[in-house]
Amino acid sequence: MSNLKQGLFVVFTGAPGCGKGTQARILKERTHICHLSTGEMLRQFAEKDTPLGRSLKAALERGEFASDAMIIEMVKNRIAEPDCANGFILDGFPRTLPQAEVLEDMLAEQNVKLSAVLEIQVPDEIIMERILGRYACMQCGAGYHDKFQKTKIYGVCDVCGGTEFARRQDDNRGTVQNRLVNYRLLTYPTIPFFEARGLLKTVDGTGTIDAVSRKIEDVLGLRDDV
Ligand code: AMP
Repeated sequence: MSNLKQGLFVVFTGAPGCGKGTQARILKERTHICHLSTGEMLRQFAEKDTPLGRSLKAALERGEFASDAMIIEMVKNRIAEPDCANGFILDGFPRTLPQAEVLEDMLAEQNVKLSAVLEIQVPDEIIMERILGRYACMQCGAGYHDKFQKTKIYGVCDVCGGTEFARRQDDNRGTVQNRLVNYRLLTYPTIPFFEARGLLKTVDGTGTIDAVSRKIEDVLGLRDDV
C-alpha cells in the first residue's frame, strides 16, 4: 500500500444548508485542494436546454436526488483528473448508501485513502433560515445572506464588484422540506457507514462562518496556532 497518494482527501456531509459549500470553499482557499460539489455540477447540467438538462432542472426544483448511476459516473471521471491528485473536498457526495459503497472502490482504484468524513451538524430550524436568506453573485459565485453575511456595500459584490445576484431555485420552503426528508431517509444512513470505518468527525455548524471553519481546521489537524 506504499503507493497511496499523499494529501488531504475529505468528504463534507450534513443536511442541506449546514454550510458544506461555504466551508468547502474556505478550506479550498486555505489548502488549494480541489473542491468538488456535485450540486454545482448538476446545476450546470440543468442549465442546458437538452432532455437531460430539462429533466434534471425539474428534479432539482422538486428537491429530488439525481440518479446514483449518473452521479457516480460524474465523480469517478472528475476525481481521476490531475488537479485532484493531491487532495479533494467532496461536497454533497456521497449522498446515498450505494454512492458511499461505490466511493470506496473508486478511491481504491485511484490509490486514495479518505482522510476524514466531516459531518457539519445544524438543527432544522436554523437550516430553514439559512437557506431562505442565501444568495450569490452571478458573476463570481461569492455567497451572501440577507441577515448573516451582507455585502459591505449594498448591492455590490465584495469580491468582484458585480451587481447582479441570484438565489438558487431549490432554495424555497417547499423544496427545502423535501430536501430535508431526503437527507434523513437517504443520506443519513451514510453517517454510521463512515463511523464504522473510523472516518467520521463531527463539527457543530451553528457558530459564525469563521468559528466553524476554525473548528473544521482543528478537527482536520490543520491549525498550528492552537
Ligand atoms: P447541493 O448543492 O449539494 O445542495 O445539491 C443540490 C441538489 O443537487 C440536491 O438537493 C440534490 O437534488 C442534487 N444532488 C447533489 N449531489 C447529489 C448526489 N450526490 N446524489 C444525488 N443528487 C445530488
